[in-house]
Amino acid sequence: MARLLAFAEIRAGRITRLSLEALSRCREIAGQCRGGTVAAVVMSDNPHAHFEELARYGVEEVFAVTDTVFASPHETPLSAPLTAALAAIIDQAVPDVVVLPSEESVKEILGALAARVSAPALPDVCSFDVLDGAVKAQRPVFTAGFIAHVRAEGSPVVVSLRAGSYAASESPEPSSLHVRNVPFAFDEKVSGKTLRKVVKAASGRIDLSEASVVVAAGRGVRDEKGKRLIEELAALLGAAIGASRGAIEAGLFPPSSLIGQTGKTVSPDVYIAVGISGALQHVAGMSGSRAVIAINKDADAPVFRHATYGITGDLYEVLPAFIEALKQKASTVN
Ligand SMILES: Cc1cc2nc3c(=O)[nH]c(=O)nc-3n(C[C@H](O)[C@H](O)[C@H](O)COP(=O)(O)OP(=O)(O)OC[C@H]3O[C@@H](n4cnc5c(N)ncnc54)[C@H](O)[C@@H]3O)c2cc1C
Repeated sequence: MARLLAFAEIRAGRITRLSLEALSRCREIAGQCRGGTVAAVVMSDNPHAHFEELARYGVEEVFAVTDTVFASPHETPLSAPLTAALAAIIDQAVPDVVVLPSEESVKEILGALAARVSAPALPDVCSFDVLDGAVKAQRPVFTAGFIAHVRAEGSPVVVSLRAGSYAASESPEPSSLHVRNVPFAFDEKVSGKTLRKVVKAASGRIDLSEASVVVAAGRGVRDEKGKRLIEELAALLGAAIGASRGAIEAGLFPPSSLIGQTGKTVSPDVYIAVGISGALQHVAGMSGSRAVIAINKDADAPVFRHATYGITGDLYEVLPAFIEALKQKASTVN
């Protein structure tokens, strides 16, 4: 049981980092099982643009759907064509395990897809393996306060993987890719919905779920001065800006920047939590970060339990010093 099929989601013309993480894990599992194979699904107006990268990640077979319904600016495709195309490919590929990135678009369709292909589903897992003819996985539950050990048998089993669960790593040797073009036609009238426009929160912002550095503001950031410090730090680090519910309720940051149980899940290399207490509902969205730097004036704030580095102090004093040090470092490097 080791024919793995992974969905390589395209956003802003690129395969998402989370999809590459999922592909890397699939390659690892396939390498451990006799006869293990990794195939990928790409849906875009120009899937060929991604074949070379897929080969570098060790994909042996790609199922390509060419359709403008999956093209930018349709960055969040309608759920009906996505479900229909994935179901058609699963029927054709007959995989043992289907691995999807746990992105918003996938969360919307996972249940429908699993029902359509009569497969058990393990949603939002943080690790998975194929053992003794079954998929065994771990998934954070109760706002990531507990880890559930789950298991599913069937062919296929559908799994969705949380961001940051595995590193994205290229194969030592690029594979030779076998391409299967899958005929697909979707009548938008059938779904009853038409996606006219994707409205971005702000132009030029770094995508939170793809960012390698995130600066996140909490209620401790209480005014425009604090907001400017956050923006300056983020600009110096090339970071995306996130926020806790506390900061959003204070009206300083847009709801689209919310990180946590009811917001986005992020898994950057570095997460800088500024004036955030570290409530469970917030931690649920950033616990996959590789390193966490917490700045809080309360030494007992729960956020320090999740921090790799902690700075106890007033953010209005710590951030200017941090920014100054970064500027000095940048000037000595240049
Ligand atoms: C069902 C449900 C879902 C939720 N979903 C989410 C979610 O998705 N995301 C989310 O974030 N929250 C969520 N919440 C809210 C969550 O429980 C917390 O209330 C929220 O995360 C608190 O935000 P905060 O840490 O910014 O504010 P607070 O808890 O008020 O913490 C502010 C922190 O700033 C520190 N501070 C204050 N001034 C300074 C200063 N000058 N310098 C340094 N530190 C300072 C304080 O010591 C404190 O630790 C949810 C709640 C519920 C019930």
